[in-house]
Amino acid sequence: MAVCARLCGVGPSRGCRRRQQRRGPAETAAADSEPDTDPEEERIEAGAAALAGAGGGRGAGPSPPPRCSLLELPPELLVEIFASLPGTDLPSLAQVCTKFRRILHTDTIWRRRCREEYGVCENLRKLDITGVSCRDVYAKRINPRVKSGRFMKILPDYEHMEYRDVYTCLLHRYRHILGLWQPDIGPYGGLLNVVVDGLFIIGWMYLPPHDPHVDDPMRFKPLFRVHLMERKSATVECMYGHRGPHNGHIQIVKKDEFSTKCNQTDHHRMSGGRQEEFRTWLREEWGRTLEDIFHEHMQELILMKFIYTSQYDNCLTYRRIYLPPSHPDDLIRPGLFKGTYGSHGLEIVMLSFHGKRARGTKITGDPNIPAGQQTVEIDLMHRIQLPDVESLRSFNELSRIVLEVREQVRQEQQQQEDGAEDGEGRAPQSPREPQRGPAQPSVELPAEKGGGPADGEAAAAAAPAPEQPAQSGQGQPFVLPVGVSSRNEDYPRTCRMCFYGTGLIAGHGFTSPERTPGVFILFDEDRFGFIWLELKSFSLYSRVRATFRNAEAPSPQAFEEMLKNIQSLTS
Ligand SMILES: [Zn+2]
Repeated sequence: MAVCARLCGVGPSRGCRRRQQRRGPAETAAADSEPDTDPEEERIEAGAAALAGAGGGRGAGPSPPPRCSLLELPPELLVEIFASLPGTDLPSLAQVCTKFRRILHTDTIWRRRCREEYGVCENLRKLDITGVSCRDVYAKRINPRVKSGRFMKILPDYEHMEYRDVYTCLLHRYRHILGLWQPDIGPYGGLLNVVVDGLFIIGWMYLPPHDPHVDDPMRFKPLFRVHLMERKSATVECMYGHRGPHNGHIQIVKKDEFSTKCNQTDHHRMSGGRQEEFRTWLREEWGRTLEDIFHEHMQELILMKFIYTSQYDNCLTYRRIYLPPSHPDDLIRPGLFKGTYGSHGLEIVMLSFHGKRARGTKITGDPNIPAGQQTVEIDLMHRIQLPDVESLRSFNELSRIVLEVREQVRQEQQQQEDGAEDGEGRAPQSPREPQRGPAQPSVELPAEKGGGPADGEAAAAAAPAPEQPAQSGQGQPFVLPVGVSSRNEDYPRTCRMCFYGTGLIAGHGFTSPERTPGVFILFDEDRFGFIWLELKSFSLYSRVRATFRNAEAPSPQAFEEMLKNIQSLTS
């Protein structure tokens, strides 16, 4: 109804005037707070009917003069039309004429743009009327320690706020920072999700759960927020530390890159000095005290991470990351996973599919293998047939099987290289496997229903394995070989299938990196594992179940490009 109240007199609209006459001022005011009431729809329908009538007349007779078209429409219909246009087109529309400009002052237009383009569901007006609170919700969610009294002081003045300001000065202005980001923080990386949350834009840092509970949900804490404190200017606040929001700054460096700066880093300091800061960080990051961590090497690693990361003081540069594109034929849905990395704790890994290979790319990293590197690579053309559970307990037996596949892979690569040198149609055949082409799978299980590798012919070409106990849709028993260490004792005891893969290992500081053989174990849609043969250790990965907006890659090429970029930064 805001539309009607504000627009009467703007243009010639008989229906609108009639309504205004019928209605007292109190009624109008009450209706004002309910912009989406039925009478408005009624009016719009009436307008649409009138328009349809006009169109019919137009078809029958000669063309009416152009001034009768858009300008002659009743304002409420124009409001409806303008509200369905992209917000970015509206400023130029405002330049057409005074009437359009005045209509574009209608806040329901901007409210709809805020909702449809940025998912804003808050009601500015209702915030004022009820006085309760989305505000308090945000206060509590963002900083539970801030008492409501103190929070009220730092609240923006919503009474004079308009959706047009929210749209133009906040959402549109900061639209380039929405989505997923990786901070440039040495080897450690990270995952930042910038979202529109109510009338805020908030940068949430996502942290893995406490080691070794990979199945627990992700944790997150706010690093910054942007909102309108005054009508036309957005305020950036640093949320780092425990003393509430304070002055910060965001700079959009270039496409897909921005940086944050804290202007009051004294807010990050604690009264108990570095000791207290470290203890607090440790409790948050690891969920325990240093005394609880008996492992000396682990203590060193933790201390190192604290010293390294805390020196940034929330002054960080972020680079955009995309979620992997998915394809119906993928082994499982690609996405983000939490994985165990021994003394380094839990890390975030992105699983993506690339034809005959799947890759695990580190989104968070450590001093050995930094963020951005490809931690595991799975060879979807080479399935591994696990022996029965009893034989699986023997590490040597598993080792023998895996190394055999590795040898096969080597030979096939050699054949491919030779084939490429010799020219087409003359690929030499391995004496051991005379019938096998380079691209065909060697160790293969019968295809399982709906879970086969991306390449359909791979499964079709497979010879049935004699000891294959798994049936369609069922798992086969799984147990870790004796001597293989795992952070998590309650790993799944059945698996769907296994593949040959390689895992990246390196010395401290990413020295002498090397891809080493291993086994990729697919447990279910949301969990997989990797046995690092040379390290005699096992990593368990569990899907990050959070949903992320604005994280889709514009194209498969853009995704590949992004992977290459984040890898090159730490190579
Ligand atoms: Zn700060």
